Amino acid sequence: MTTLARRMDTIAPSATIEISRRAAEMRREGLDIISLSQGEPDFDTPPHIAHAGKRAIDEGQTRYTDVDGTLELKQAIVAKFERDNALHYATDQISVGTGGKQVIFNALFALIDPEDEVIIPAPYWVSYPDMVRLAGGTPVCLECDVSQGFKLTAEQLEAAITPKTKCLMLNSPANPTGAGYHREELAALGEVLKRYPQVFVISDDIYEYLAYDGWAFTTLAAVVPELFERVLTVNGVSKGYAMTGWRIGFGGGPKDLIRAMAKLQGQMTTNPSAISQAAAVEALNGPRDFLVEHLEIFRQRRDMCMAALNAIDGLSCRAPEGAFYLFISCQGLINRRTPAGEVLERDVDVARFLLDTANVAVVPGTAFGMAPWFRISFAAATERLGEACERIAQACSTLT
Ligand code: PLP
Repeated sequence: MTTLARRMDTIAPSATIEISRRAAEMRREGLDIISLSQGEPDFDTPPHIAHAGKRAIDEGQTRYTDVDGTLELKQAIVAKFERDNALHYATDQISVGTGGKQVIFNALFALIDPEDEVIIPAPYWVSYPDMVRLAGGTPVCLECDVSQGFKLTAEQLEAAITPKTKCLMLNSPANPTGAGYHREELAALGEVLKRYPQVFVISDDIYEYLAYDGWAFTTLAAVVPELFERVLTVNGVSKGYAMTGWRIGFGGGPKDLIRAMAKLQGQMTTNPSAISQAAAVEALNGPRDFLVEHLEIFRQRRDMCMAALNAIDGLSCRAPEGAFYLFISCQGLINRRTPAGEVLERDVDVARFLLDTANVAVVPGTAFGMAPWFRISFAAATERLGEACERIAQACSTLT
């Protein structure tokens, strides 16, 4: 048997990937599985962006680029931060990586020493705690209840900060809850952070363009300019631009951190794909009317799924301000019995029951640090979502 490094014991395989694997296996067995487990828009990359990628190949943009992004892409990102967020970065304050995931990973590796603490509001994106552990740090997960809109409060933050606190992870709108912070809420967190100069913030804004019901996206570095030098503002093209497979993410932050991230990336992956970078330039600089069209489709799907799922005895969910997820309480199903006689003790049992009985793949809240809940992604085709909700209702009606 191979003796693996001890660090491999500190992390778990991604729960979302595990569910998708099981769903794929069932699909291969011929079952009609509806997967609501993955956070990926079902739309194709808009044609003008895809063409920019093809053009890059034809023009021979197929070689290494600068490690942390081409100057052209960095300029497009600077312009994006100015236009959308009123954030003023220079190109040497920008880092481009293979997805927002790599940018966050680089940042944590560049920031965290052993025993440093990183505050992570829960429910959280599955990758944050494991990334912190891999970097040698300690994740400090703070439960943010539905009664507080799944959002970290200033009081909670202040109570959690210790001399070892190095970093705070913020994600708005959030995965898995869709919770979005209002300007005043960020300002209140900012007031606390101003008193603790050793705390750095990674603001993960990857779902920026997915905002509903008049909720206005805003980001910490813009709301609290005094913190500008202590924030890495992370974003990317995966979610908003339907470009998950192109693997381009980026961050804006202090020069010394950006340089350190480039040093790391230079020893790991070097530059993100040159072709994808060219496509990302077109995404950021080109026409963006499709964002409004996609958003309207997502809003309709959100409303449809919320109405259908809230009507099911035992389930309830709040309206998310953004992103494309519903985080659903299944407290009302706990301790109920399936027709096969199994008692649903945990959200993991509920997710397994829904996969086996309704053939619908969802992700248990346990994976995101809050139980008993589960997450669905409504970034799937509208008809399939409708059918999935019907199947979930049917399956739940068999519980006693
Ligand atoms: N941040 C959050 C909260 C996410 O949900 C994801 C993807 O699921 C990412 C970052 C990373 O996205 P990507 O690496 O595709 O840019």
